[in-house]
Amino acid sequence: MSPNIAKKQRFIGKTAIITGAGSGIGRAAAIQMAREGANVALFDLVNERTSVLEQKLNKLRKDCALAIDVDTSDAERMEEAVRRTIEHFGSLDIVFANAGINGVVGPIEELSLSDWEHTINVNLTGTFLTLKYTIPHLKAKGKGSIIITSSINGNTRFTSFGWSPYSTTKAGQVAFAKMAALELAKFKIRVNVICPGAISTNIDESTEFNEDVEEIVIPIEFPEGAQPLADGPGKPENVADLVSFLASDDSIHITGAQIVIDGAESLLS
Ligand code: NAD
Repeated sequence: MSPNIAKKQRFIGKTAIITGAGSGIGRAAAIQMAREGANVALFDLVNERTSVLEQKLNKLRKDCALAIDVDTSDAERMEEAVRRTIEHFGSLDIVFANAGINGVVGPIEELSLSDWEHTINVNLTGTFLTLKYTIPHLKAKGKGSIIITSSINGNTRFTSFGWSPYSTTKAGQVAFAKMAALELAKFKIRVNVICPGAISTNIDESTEFNEDVEEIVIPIEFPEGAQPLADGPGKPENVADLVSFLASDDSIHITGAQIVIDGAESLLS
């Protein structure tokens, strides 16, 4: 985080829900927003991670963080998690729909229906449910910012062979974000979607490779290096800077935007 951003304190008196807050991009965004004054509700499936983060942030600023153990693809648990957030913090200003998995990677005919549905449920239905249950509270506030984490995969990059469920969810999130941006503009709720390239996080833990995936790979000769700007994967904090910008009034006239953050990686592939 740049010192200038830290000094801004853009989120005093604001509350953010961050899904997938226990690790990687969500964790970095939660830390940055809390440092800038936000109350943060940390939604994640892996509760040990978010409870440690909750303690760390509450030491930084008393009672600014609330960890909630929730599967974003489970409608009842999501509704309850949003209800608890409002009960605890009083209102809602920012929603970062970020939780996601890589899921099963393999040839289409080798994927089971449940492989397909699992990735769709977590990445796409989870995003829908996150917005469905939070929008009424943003409307009640008369203003809000929603940020959705998609990917370059499925949008600017189609060479991750075997990643058809993942890429489909990431393309779907972009369409969903743009539809939501138009639907919610009259309520002064902005919706933007970010498309990261490779970022150093724990996302590989959520990947399951089918052994036949090698059979569908088409060889590609890349130029040397993968991320021209950074000469390697980006950091979660780089993405958190963008998320905080989109969450704040610094981006007051930006909605429906699809922003690639990949160090020019997708221009090569
Ligand atoms: P990560 O694995 O480090 O963090 C993701 C978090 O989401 C984890 O803490 C995990 O427990 C949580 N999560 C997963 N399924 C969940 C569910 N059903 N309910 C609640 N929480 C759940 O990964 P990350 O890289 O920080 O991923 C965040 C987002 O960024 C994902 O949507 C991912 O697709 C996207 N993304 C990541 C990269 C990358 O290279 N890391 C690139 C493009 C897009």
